Amino acid sequence: MPEQTPPTGIDRRTVVKALGALPLAAAAGRAGAQAAVAPKKVLVIGAGLAGLNAALLLQEQGLDVTVIEGRDRVGGRVLSHRNLPGAPESGGTSIFAGYARMIDAAKKYNVGLIDVSPTVPLFNQRELYLNGAIIPEAAWPTHPRNPFPEPLKKTMPWAYLNPVIGKNNPLKTVDAWLDPANARYDVSLHDWLVSLGISEDIIDLCWNNNPAYGTTAHDVSAMMAMFSTTFQMMQMQFSRTVFGYTAAGGNQAIPEALAKALKKEIQFKRNVVAMETTDRGATVTCEDGTVYKADFVICSIPFSVLRRVRIDPLVRGPQGLAINTLGAQQINLLHLAVKQPFWEDDGLKPAMFGDNLAGMVVAERKGKTAADVSSLTIWVRGRNALWMDTLEEKDAITAIMTDFYRARPAARGKVEVRAYKSWGRDPFSAGDWAVWAPGQINAFASSVGKAHGRIHFCGEHTAVSNRGMEGAMESGERVAFEVLGLV
Ligand SMILES: Cc1cc2nc3c(=O)[nH]c(=O)nc-3n(C[C@H](O)[C@H](O)[C@H](O)COP(=O)(O)OP(=O)(O)OC[C@H]3O[C@@H](n4cnc5c(N)ncnc54)[C@H](O)[C@@H]3O)c2cc1C
Repeated sequence: MPEQTPPTGIDRRTVVKALGALPLAAAAGRAGAQAAVAPKKVLVIGAGLAGLNAALLLQEQGLDVTVIEGRDRVGGRVLSHRNLPGAPESGGTSIFAGYARMIDAAKKYNVGLIDVSPTVPLFNQRELYLNGAIIPEAAWPTHPRNPFPEPLKKTMPWAYLNPVIGKNNPLKTVDAWLDPANARYDVSLHDWLVSLGISEDIIDLCWNNNPAYGTTAHDVSAMMAMFSTTFQMMQMQFSRTVFGYTAAGGNQAIPEALAKALKKEIQFKRNVVAMETTDRGATVTCEDGTVYKADFVICSIPFSVLRRVRIDPLVRGPQGLAINTLGAQQINLLHLAVKQPFWEDDGLKPAMFGDNLAGMVVAERKGKTAADVSSLTIWVRGRNALWMDTLEEKDAITAIMTDFYRARPAARGKVEVRAYKSWGRDPFSAGDWAVWAPGQINAFASSVGKAHGRIHFCGEHTAVSNRGMEGAMESGERVAFEVLGLV
């Protein structure tokens, strides 16, 4: 149902001028006082972590907040599969010990957190599968496919590159990736690794098979890998004993709890197709014809989707380029329930790393003890995920399972496909986390979060000092204070 914009009553420029020198906390207090007289209307697009965090902060300050969401659920890229034991994740997975905002939110809204530290040592226990055969760990140091230099021949492929990146990482702080002094590292990860003496065979084996960013090391900025590494190192320093958490009932319980705390019910299935900003307010139009008017719009739509939304006036310059070109990681996940522990039959570890479609098999450990395997998740990333997305879902699942059974014949009849998620084919994400291609950080990283008239952008892709779920929360906080500074 359309909402009408109330007369503003307050001259925006006067307020901005008056607030200009105030610290943000003071701005927040002031907004609350004004809101008692004439609450400003804020429309938040997206009920993921960024949008929900912004909405609650503004609601606390007395603003009139409406959240609309394209999907029929909250959480966005946080998605827990409760039809499987342990509710494994298809989205945001690890809540690291230093995720202050996420941990605070869980505490404030009574979501239990489970310490996952006991399962961490088990995570890297995997089988290596290359060229159609399992290579036992004992055979790896002398195996012909082993591309590592002599002192490191025993290192398994999944453990090789992170220490190399860590040791050579020039970024000392989490926001240093935006410092122009580091601009020279905004080259391809491939070129940077080669400059360190890393061979093509190592890059292919350790990165290109199953990349965390990009489709290969060629199309991701080295600075992105550096930022991610610095972020993880910082997170490790928060606690000597706790690695991280998962939410009881699945991480989706956190956005669900945030959503419950909203005064106004979220309006679902509102697929935003157009936005307009003027001096007097902003208008948002949805696919079903619903039109919303507000004093400010907070938009958490990932850029991979936002580029399909008409924005009037056009976003120009570096930010426009960012909306049109910033990449999103391609990831598809297949979740398997375990009917019988087939690894007891073939004597191998349940998890795998390999060069096939089922290239990363994760043994979820969400049972009664850390050692219990509650389900298996097959991660398909990069080029393989792009190929999966050209197939019908059932054919994609068949292709992955054929490869999986080829590697683990003992699993036949002992696992059951319970969920498949392609983030690339999801119209509300069109991919997963933002991926910065070489040159993009220098070109527009400092512009992505800038306001466009009365449209204010947030979301993981606009975070400065955090990544993933905590980055989404950080961006929600930043955008809320930005709006509070204007009312
Ligand atoms: C497989 C996977 C693993 C991950 N692992 C981790 C991890 O271990 N740790 C970590 O910290 N993070 C992880 N992440 C990343 C983390 O989940 C995301 O960065 C974070 O949830 C993003 O939150 P957001 O609010 O910025 O965006 P989103 O959650 O995407 O929220 C945006 C919202 O906008 C809605 N929307 C989009 N378009 C429209 C439209 N046109 N109209 C209306 N609504 C729209 C969407 O439906 C969505 O609800 C992972 C993600 C994935 C997919």
